[in-house]
Amino acid sequence: MAKRDYYQVLGVTKNASEAEIKKAYRATAMKYHPDRNPDDKAAEEKFKEAAEAYEVLSDSDKKARYDRYGHAGVDPNAGFGGGGRRSGGMTMEDIFSQFGSAFSDEGSPFDSFFGGSSRTGGGQRGSNLRVKVKLNLEEIAKGAKKKIKIKKQIKCSPCGGSGAKDSNSKKTCSTCHGSGYVKQVRNTFLGQMQTTGVCHTCNGLGQIITSQCVHCKGEGRVYGEETIDIEIPQGVHDGIQLSMSGKGNVGAHGAPAGDLIINIEEEAHPNLVRDGSNVIFELSMNFADLILGTSVEVPTIDGRVKIKIPPGTPSGKVFRLKDKGLPNVQSYGKGDQLVKVHVWTPKKFTTEE
Ligand SMILES: [Zn+2]
Ligand SMILES: [Zn+2]
Repeated sequence: MAKRDYYQVLGVTKNASEAEIKKAYRATAMKYHPDRNPDDKAAEEKFKEAAEAYEVLSDSDKKARYDRYGHAGVDPNAGFGGGGRRSGGMTMEDIFSQFGSAFSDEGSPFDSFFGGSSRTGGGQRGSNLRVKVKLNLEEIAKGAKKKIKIKKQIKCSPCGGSGAKDSNSKKTCSTCHGSGYVKQVRNTFLGQMQTTGVCHTCNGLGQIITSQCVHCKGEGRVYGEETIDIEIPQGVHDGIQLSMSGKGNVGAHGAPAGDLIINIEEEAHPNLVRDGSNVIFELSMNFADLILGTSVEVPTIDGRVKIKIPPGTPSGKVFRLKDKGLPNVQSYGKGDQLVKVHVWTPKKFTTEE
């Protein structure tokens, strides 16, 4: 697909000022933001397209090359050296980090909209936690509910996570006037550059605590314990990772919590061997029973089942117990249990004969 003109993408003219380009990008990005257009591929493409356009048009050097050579001037595959753009285009991560400069002077209205992103101020999100959960085959077959106790950083309840002694122990940060950001003008070899960074006086919180909560010493969180209910779907397998958002360590000063990552470990079954959604049982029988036929009980995931061995069954024959396997984690349906028959010969028998 041919690339659209970057000016057209943002809906501005070639003579648009830096401020106009930024404003147009904000409006476009807000319109097509994935949070507002969940599962809308077309919107996501538009969102990425706008970010790409802004990346070029907000950079005077790239803009000049684009104005002169068009897309070829800023395409790393076209032999111009590209100027820092990776060949695979921008990732969503790149785009969100771009918001730092495109949106930061807008202050708090965007904080809530882009909530959860630690780089837009408001303090650092808590770290992720990992736990291992061991499951046996029966639990995997039925799905499992587990209660686990986790030692982790939890919100300090006396102060509600703020870290302040009481509601009168907070004041607006005078450095950033509550926005959590400060603008800095730096002299670089390219001339003066204005950057926006997290306010160091308040660490991006916008508020200063004048009197600390004694329980958490102002941090807003304490080391504690939480019991978490984990629901594990049917059919998971060893090595699968499940993630529960917001169940990790809470951030300092009321910042959101990280995620809880659950690593599934599968316990070996004493009799059954898993093969994808099927389970295999190896059945040893003596020769006479195979010749004459019999019925035997075999273990399955949900109890023992009697199967018929018809007369004249050869060694190596596989019987299939329909739907006695495991549910599929991604789709409907169940696997089967395979019963593999082997003739059991006493070792001495052959030598004595
Ligand atoms: Zn501040
Ligand atoms: Zn506290």
